[in-house]
Amino acid sequence: MNIIIMGAPGSGKGTQAALICKAHDLPHVSTGDLLRKNIADGTELGKQAKAFMDAGKLVPDELVIALLKNRIAETDCKNGFLLDGFPRNAKQAEVLGGIVDIDVALYLETDLDKLADRAANRRVCLKCGYSTSADKAPDGKCKECGEPLVIRDDDKREVVENRLKVYAANTAPLVEYYKAKGVLKTVDGMQSIEAVNAAIEAALK
Ligand code: ADP
Ligand code: ZN
Repeated sequence: MNIIIMGAPGSGKGTQAALICKAHDLPHVSTGDLLRKNIADGTELGKQAKAFMDAGKLVPDELVIALLKNRIAETDCKNGFLLDGFPRNAKQAEVLGGIVDIDVALYLETDLDKLADRAANRRVCLKCGYSTSADKAPDGKCKECGEPLVIRDDDKREVVENRLKVYAANTAPLVEYYKAKGVLKTVDGMQSIEAVNAAIEAALK
């Protein structure tokens, strides 16, 4: 099964993606995680992407599309995958549609004005991609792998506001695009993690 998960920055996409992948044994393909890994590893791609990410802008399509194509060509994606953070604009959606069929596009619907606070409290693990809120990780360590949790460079308030604007202009229209293709499933993302997960599982049945 090829699944896309969509939602605004801070909508809980990454958290839900990890749960879905565990339950359905799918690889979690997050372009944000892949880009952050490239930055941490000091690759050429990471160097080119960093300034865009730190400003809350989209990384140029050529870079992200190449990254995505290489990743889904790996053998673990052969029997399906979950895409998180891609596509983020109409161009990327067109390119993706030319490579694979998407079975389900999950859309986590959220209240845009509550999301800036969520992002400000977010703590992430750069090693495994785990993310949580500051109050749930008082020891500051990743629950999955023990690495120290950090605040993402692009979770500063000014940058978050920019990411929300970029989302509204470029990514939100994809909801209609996948609706027209008949694969859209909308889930209320303002519930607890468990309730959102249950709604997603019901939608995937
Ligand atoms: P969030 O969805 O919470 O904003 P991500 O980890 O998905 O976080 O993305 C972080 C940043 O990585 C984005 O703001 C953008 O700069 C870059 N990025 C990730 N995926 C893409 C993509 N498909 N196209 C362009 N830029 C991307
Ligand atoms: Zn970790």
